[in-house]
Amino acid sequence: MKISERIGHVEYAIRDVILYARELEKKGRDIIYLNIGDPVLYDFKTPEHVKEAFVKAVRSGQNNYAPSEGVNELRKAIAEKEGEKGLPCGPEGVVVTNGVSEGVDMVMASILDPGDEILVPGPCYPPYSSYARLYGGVPVEYRSSEEEGWAPDLDDLRKKITKKTVAITVISPNNPTGAVYSGKALKEIAQIAAEHKLYLICDEIYDRIVFEEFESMARHADDVPLVMLNGFSKVYLMTGWRLGYIARNGRSKLLDELWENMPKMARLRIASNTTAQVAAVEALRGPQDHVREMVSKLRERRDYVMKRLDAMDGISCVRPKGAFYVFPKIDMKDRWKSDAEFVIDLLKSTGVITVHGSGFGKKYGAGHFRIVYLPPVGMLEEAMSRLEKFLK
Ligand code: PLP
Repeated sequence: MKISERIGHVEYAIRDVILYARELEKKGRDIIYLNIGDPVLYDFKTPEHVKEAFVKAVRSGQNNYAPSEGVNELRKAIAEKEGEKGLPCGPEGVVVTNGVSEGVDMVMASILDPGDEILVPGPCYPPYSSYARLYGGVPVEYRSSEEEGWAPDLDDLRKKITKKTVAITVISPNNPTGAVYSGKALKEIAQIAAEHKLYLICDEIYDRIVFEEFESMARHADDVPLVMLNGFSKVYLMTGWRLGYIARNGRSKLLDELWENMPKMARLRIASNTTAQVAAVEALRGPQDHVREMVSKLRERRDYVMKRLDAMDGISCVRPKGAFYVFPKIDMKDRWKSDAEFVIDLLKSTGVITVHGSGFGKKYGAGHFRIVYLPPVGMLEEAMSRLEKFLK
């Protein structure tokens, strides 16, 4: 039977590698999963007051469809949060989505026609390229400089703008590198977007999972057509509830037409989960203590993993400043032909599952692999010891 050509281009390396692990697990192997960025699978739990708000919403009968653009009180609370970060969007400038993932889908569907180019960081969280391709767009990677802590290479970014470019994507804190972009870099990217009249698509889903200072693109965007993507999966530990949002820069008139049209995508899929939205209001407005605790645990785990990786021959690694990933470079020697081969060899030999760097972009991700350092130190210790032995 026929399948569409476009579905053939869809890839999601992070979940694709699991298939190999499942096979090994069936044979009784003990697998250490360091491939998926889901904190709730480890010792980070959805805050109690947020869970309570969810249960209360179910019990009090809020089980109907929500408005397509989102529950009003949540849109207000999101506008407050983004407003504090420097983005004047107002509740009407917010569309609530089923995770940032659906937000990426809606944005790409709303701005790309076949042949249009979109700049994405290289390496990059894969759905940006996959959704762009799904709508016939062409993702073009701009280089991140490993020597400068995976900072965006702005000369390369400028060079890659063509007549077909419609948007620049920025992800800070970054997946997979853990880089947090400096205010100077953000300002310059915003200026480039203004100069060329491009959309600036920013993903700040890890905005509070940082070990040093964080600056939002919103502070530098002025009246640039900035479209902000953010959500509840990571900072609020609500991965399974699938909730995110798209917020606009209210200062940019250039976004008016997009904002008249994009909500049609929201209406098409009716609405996001109502009860999760009610709970998300509590997440944003209620106690925030869990964030400090999470960052402090993650700092310890990052430092531990970095200490171990630094002591290993055959890999080198930039110290991440945010999120919960490290992206080491592999010294391939003649042992492996590609990072994908390295990752499969590592999995089969040790049971440790990571993600190959080229899954985050063929050009700038190749020769690397991504480790998620969410598990407790005991599990990380075992994983690092297996990796060390493997490299030896
Ligand atoms: N954006 C980035 C940069 C991510 O790393 C992830 C998940 O790993 C997502 C979005 C997915 O977010 P959500 O769970 O809200 O769909």
